[in-house]
Amino acid sequence: MRQEQHLVIIGNGIAGVTLAQHVRRHSACRITLISAESATHFPRTALMYVYMGHMRFQDIVPYEDWYWTEQELELVHDYVEQVDTAKKTLSLRSGASLSYDVLVLATGSSAAFYNWPGQHLKGVQGLVTLQDLELMEQNTQGIKQAVVVGGGLIGIEMAEMLKSRNIGVTMLVRDKLYWQNVLPLEEAQMITDHIRSHGIELLLQEELQEILADEHGAARAILTRSGKEISCQFVGITTGVKPNVAFLQDSGIDTDKGVLVNEYFETNQPDVYAISDCAQFRNPAPGNPTMEQLWYTARLHAEALAATLLGKRTAYERGPWFNSAKFLDIEYQTYGFVPARFKEEQESLYWQNDEATKAIRLVYDKNTHLLLGINLLGIRYRHDLCHHWLKQGYTLDQVMQELPAVNFDPEFFQRYEQELLNQYYTRFPEQAPPVHQNTWWQLRKRFGLLSDSASC
Ligand SMILES: Cc1cc2nc3c(=O)[nH]c(=O)nc-3n(C[C@H](O)[C@H](O)[C@H](O)COP(=O)(O)OP(=O)(O)OC[C@H]3O[C@@H](n4cnc5c(N)ncnc54)[C@H](O)[C@@H]3O)c2cc1C
Repeated sequence: MRQEQHLVIIGNGIAGVTLAQHVRRHSACRITLISAESATHFPRTALMYVYMGHMRFQDIVPYEDWYWTEQELELVHDYVEQVDTAKKTLSLRSGASLSYDVLVLATGSSAAFYNWPGQHLKGVQGLVTLQDLELMEQNTQGIKQAVVVGGGLIGIEMAEMLKSRNIGVTMLVRDKLYWQNVLPLEEAQMITDHIRSHGIELLLQEELQEILADEHGAARAILTRSGKEISCQFVGITTGVKPNVAFLQDSGIDTDKGVLVNEYFETNQPDVYAISDCAQFRNPAPGNPTMEQLWYTARLHAEALAATLLGKRTAYERGPWFNSAKFLDIEYQTYGFVPARFKEEQESLYWQNDEATKAIRLVYDKNTHLLLGINLLGIRYRHDLCHHWLKQGYTLDQVMQELPAVNFDPEFFQRYEQELLNQYYTRFPEQAPPVHQNTWWQLRKRFGLLSDSASC
């Protein structure tokens, strides 16, 4: 970006802001961030803590007003109604217009609704935006019972939010277990049980048929596909998100579900790019999704595009997959490829504690022993090391050697990971040390985690 150019970014979410910051670090060009949702950036993932009373909205806002002035990042709180790619101008809802040299669409996504009868009733809503949070605050005042439709990550967050206010929650989940289309059976069972242990009613293999109205046009109950009627005053729709691209309809920018881009985030229009939740790859790398709608990938998209805009055309290479979330009290981290159902050539080592609150799964290729992925529940591993193993193509055998170094909690390793190691030696007896030298403390010593004098 040259100094005299104007970079306009629609969307001040994590993708838009990360891009602006990276470009600003190396360019004095004019940069404008536009958002209809809020005047300033906030982390969407923290909205639930505001509802639960852990923080106020102002506590989750990471940058104070002076920051934007100091960085010379112009903020416009408005909605872009139209993009004219021929004239390189934007028409805003306020009536103003803005011209750009380079335009980046970082417009995120909104809750997806699937035309259920009654979905427009009062008390029915999704949870993505700040306005959704405000609406949820109004819609849940004094209510007793809620239904959350959809068994994904936003669904469980919404259920936790409602429970924090002593509102009864029923969750409708299409699969036999919670998130069974993503988690292997054991993890899905563990989380299903954990959700139930929090007093949330999980209705499995159930789908929403209709939302029924009371005499004031508000939700009074839902009807499931199997014919159950569940009385409620609030219906949370958490059946996925859809990219915010409707306003681009007449712009000449190609869209499908999202804005179609190549690996440089280029759209079909010159000087127009799209990143993060709203972008859809035309030709993703084999095995990769067409859309990546995560916090972590939002930052990676922004960093790759910033390099391109700063003159070093850079193709996006995500590297090993990573995601993290929280299922009530259980933290979840996943690295690389952990399928819900294994193919013939895939196998795993799996351990979980007796209380079913912690689990580790290492997935590998049966033939090559190459590590494919890691699932962690209730345990946190060092991100850099997991990433390194997958990026460098470690075999399971190499991973087992370094296992003691990956856990933040040595005590935990002493008590539990030895079991994983035993499983490994049972499955691969040829790898077992002759006199069982590779006990946990010896491995830790090898990796400098224990002094010679320390005893177990
Ligand atoms: C409740 C919740 C919990 C989540 N938890 C996790 C998690 O634990 N881990 C994880 O990896 N991901 C999580 N996600 C997903 C993650 O937050 C998103 O992938 C990420 O925030 C997307 O960032 P973005 O910058 O692409 O878009 P956004 O943050 O959505 O920002 C886009 C902005 O553009 C604005 N905009 C859109 N169209 C226009 C227009 N025409 N004019 C002006 N402004 C416009 C929008 O209003 C919005 O403010 C969660 C999402 C939600 C909703």
